[in-house]
Amino acid sequence: MGQQPVRIFDTTLRDGEQAPGFSLRQEEKLQLARQLDALGVDIIEAGFPIASVSDAEAVRTISKEVRRPVIAGLARCVRADLEKAAWALAPAARGRIHTFIATSDLHLQVKLRISRDQCLASAVDAVRYARQQTDDVQFSAEDATRSDPDFLCRVVEQVIAAGATTINLPDTVGFSTPDELRDFFTGVMGRVPNADKAVFSAHCHDDLGLAVANSLAAIQGGVRQVECTINGIGERAGNAALEEIVMALHVRRDRMPFTVGVVHKELYPSSAMLAELTGQGVQVNKAIVGRNAFAHEAGIHQDGMLKDRRTYEIMRAEDVGAPWNPLVLGRHSGRHAVQKRCNDLGLAVELTELADVYRTLMVRANECKVLGDSDVIEAVSTVRAARPASVS
Ligand code: MN
Repeated sequence: MGQQPVRIFDTTLRDGEQAPGFSLRQEEKLQLARQLDALGVDIIEAGFPIASVSDAEAVRTISKEVRRPVIAGLARCVRADLEKAAWALAPAARGRIHTFIATSDLHLQVKLRISRDQCLASAVDAVRYARQQTDDVQFSAEDATRSDPDFLCRVVEQVIAAGATTINLPDTVGFSTPDELRDFFTGVMGRVPNADKAVFSAHCHDDLGLAVANSLAAIQGGVRQVECTINGIGERAGNAALEEIVMALHVRRDRMPFTVGVVHKELYPSSAMLAELTGQGVQVNKAIVGRNAFAHEAGIHQDGMLKDRRTYEIMRAEDVGAPWNPLVLGRHSGRHAVQKRCNDLGLAVELTELADVYRTLMVRANECKVLGDSDVIEAVSTVRAARPASVS
């Protein structure tokens, strides 16, 4: 059995954009959608058309302008939502209506105040109607992982029979553990008799920091689509981070024989564009795209890096399109790194000077935490001014 393809469903513009502080204007959404196209995602969820006029227009504009990926629009299992989504997706080369309804008793009783039978009927009606608009219909059972398994399987079977081509079972509140989610998917797919007629999908939230691990476990459990966002943005603690899923599948392809169509070199540019457009910076130690993801300050690590990058790096910054300035000079740095930086700056520091330059820089590092090139240049000239005779 060779490598199996997994589709990347990007929901940065829907789940991500609806998080506090991440709203984008229409032209910004289009700019990001073009970048997601360059990144190579399979499906772009462009918005929730019924949510506002501007959402609907953004989905319609992206449908017109971005032609390679499938463009998805979200809709509740309500006629007005489905009609608005169909309108917004009409210009798309390939449009997908993504309709959803909660299936957990908690959501049915407390939020929607409907019975299981009413939920099932709405889901089937919505999928049937959506299939009259497009051949590509995704159904999501919101709060699937906290739903009664028997009822969930009944819903899944009937929406597939009604024409759903993708079945997304979200861990809406980020409650699952990886082993549990893997079993959940193998269980549902094993029990639903027509499961082979649809692609199964996971949508994991990061409330316990498990969204990426859960997404990978779901793939191992049989899903062939994962929903994720750039920088892991999304409701509350966010969604599974696209860049982490993609690089985990790549770096550990020895254990996970799955392929995705994403262009690795576009990962960092996508992250940077999103941060710039939203004004929300990326956590410095964020995997793959954080400022420190490929940086080393500790002396032992810097020494190893200077000898061979593989000592402390499992992938390369340039492979994900990130700038590589690995040796950060600070209080924890050693002489090797200081000497290397001096050489890089053309300062050709003598071994006799190095101890003084190093000492001067460490005093400075206590004040400013991270040392820049100007600090290094200044330290060298200070040392040389004090010991002019030692300069050859
Ligand atoms: Mn979500």
